[in-house]
Amino acid sequence: MLVVNGRWPGRTLCLTAAVHGDELNGIEIVRRVLYDINPGKLSGRIVGIPIVNLDGFRRGSRYLSDRRDLNRHFPGSPDGSLAARIAHSLFAEILVHCDVLVDIHTGSLGRTNLPQVRADMRRPEAAEVTRGLATSSSCTARVPATCQTRGAGPGHRRSP
Ligand SMILES: [Zn+2]
Repeated sequence: MLVVNGRWPGRTLCLTAAVHGDELNGIEIVRRVLYDINPGKLSGRIVGIPIVNLDGFRRGSRYLSDRRDLNRHFPGSPDGSLAARIAHSLFAEILVHCDVLVDIHTGSLGRTNLPQVRADMRRPEAAEVTRGLATSSSCTARVPATCQTRGAGPGHRRSP
């Protein structure tokens, strides 16, 4: 875990990557953001966790060694499966202390992902955060998810 404390008070941003252990791009993104940020110009704090799923990362696998998808087990449980316990530990010990979470995913072997942001757009603060991210579309993170290409009308909505 990497932490940069800014010179000025402010909110806490958490960046996570490799919840799916074979999604490698986010690891370097988190590392570069945390190492390149100038704390003297920062308000608040940035917490970076480059590899959440260390078990999957070590084996080059999307999943944990018990074949569970860690991304499907948040907020987790202290008494559940390996996935539930890892999710609970991350959620209860780190994420609850963050104001904003950006969880970076990428396409992995055999998968293609278009750049997108998923958030609960019903929450004004979540919608505001997505405006600063350079993607071509955003998704409302509930089931079923709906997406809209930026600048496009309702005719360009799609489901991921
Ligand atoms: Zn992923």
